[in-house]
Amino acid sequence: MKFETRAIHVGQEPDLETGAVIPPIYATSTFAQSRPGETRGYDYTRSGNPNFTRLGATLASLESGTHATVFGNGMAAITAVLSTFSSGDLVLAEENVYGCTFRIFARVFDKFGLRVRYVDFADPAQYRTIVEERPALVWLESPTNPMLKILDIAAISAEASKVGAPVLVDNTFASPFFQRPLELGATLSLSSTTKYVNGHSDCLGGVVVTNDGDWNEKMIFAQKAVGLNPSPFDTWLVQRGVKTLAIRMRQHHENALAIATHLDGAPSVKWVRHPFHASHPQVELAKRQMSGGSGIVTLELDADLDATIAFVSGLEIFALAESLGGIESLIDHPASMTHASIPRAERERVGIHDGLVRLSVGIENIEDLLADLDRALGQVGLLPISSRG
Ligand SMILES: *Cc1c(COP(=O)(O)O)cnc(C)c1O
Repeated sequence: MKFETRAIHVGQEPDLETGAVIPPIYATSTFAQSRPGETRGYDYTRSGNPNFTRLGATLASLESGTHATVFGNGMAAITAVLSTFSSGDLVLAEENVYGCTFRIFARVFDKFGLRVRYVDFADPAQYRTIVEERPALVWLESPTNPMLKILDIAAISAEASKVGAPVLVDNTFASPFFQRPLELGATLSLSSTTKYVNGHSDCLGGVVVTNDGDWNEKMIFAQKAVGLNPSPFDTWLVQRGVKTLAIRMRQHHENALAIATHLDGAPSVKWVRHPFHASHPQVELAKRQMSGGSGIVTLELDADLDATIAFVSGLEIFALAESLGGIESLIDHPASMTHASIPRAERERVGIHDGLVRLSVGIENIEDLLADLDRALGQVGLLPISSRG
């Protein structure tokens, strides 16, 4: 079965007891046993629930993996992976990781002796650090947030396999519809399903997918031992959301590319970035590794902090909000919102200046989105950029 069909049918077999086409929400904390220890596969929801099993089956299939463990949110999935390490272990991480990934390394796992070294994995000359350092894990994210850097997952995984180092890819921005890290050689594909996979901004979730039985055991253990499980209701919502992933992603991609094309070269815009736009410095790699560029557009305005804040606050359709990947368009000002937890010097070193904004382009009508952007730019004196406005 093809992707679109699996998104709807795998893990969604009708309920055995009633025939309900949409399986119910198993809103239960515990499960009756016929004799002590004799269960029907479930004993307590922290360590498993039919809604988790169903969503795990769907997401494993979409990511081309054999096992998937679902978690309460993306950070819980990240916690599950990091909880498997010991004091002294080293993680080699891409330097432009998600802000809260950076924070959990620095402020939580650092206290337990987990070491992190940041590397610019867009630079192939840096791959040698993997063989030199023999890390316990290589932590990638591609495209990165918010700079949309693309990392060559196949090349880095090949390098890591020389020293048996597992590779994790945070696949949140691409979604499994556009990129499947396990097919490219990664060991673990992690996602915040809060974003594109659910796609409706109405719940949180996380997942780790793998083909490796040992990693699968570790993830199941972390889910129950650390208490990282989602709720049955939230997994049911993600299960509903993921059915339309393919059709949503196509539209996110198309709208985002249209916006990047529209803003590229505008006088008030220093640069605009989308993985599939010709101006992206790694567009060839993006097209080799992904089947679409997803719905995020990052741009830097030729504007100071005040004008940038006025612009992001003046939009009508784009809501000013953290998060991304929902059907509705959002705008984020990383320096003061999503990436405020990263020290300024560190943030600016990776390009997050005051004029930088990140658009999570939704699936509304593209004419309305372009008009909203033009009007808000004009309002703060950043020139209406075309006849469209
Ligand atoms: C949002 C996000 C996370 C964290 O997910 P939550 O569901 O918010 O906990 C991790 N990685 C990336 C790239 C994200 O965008």
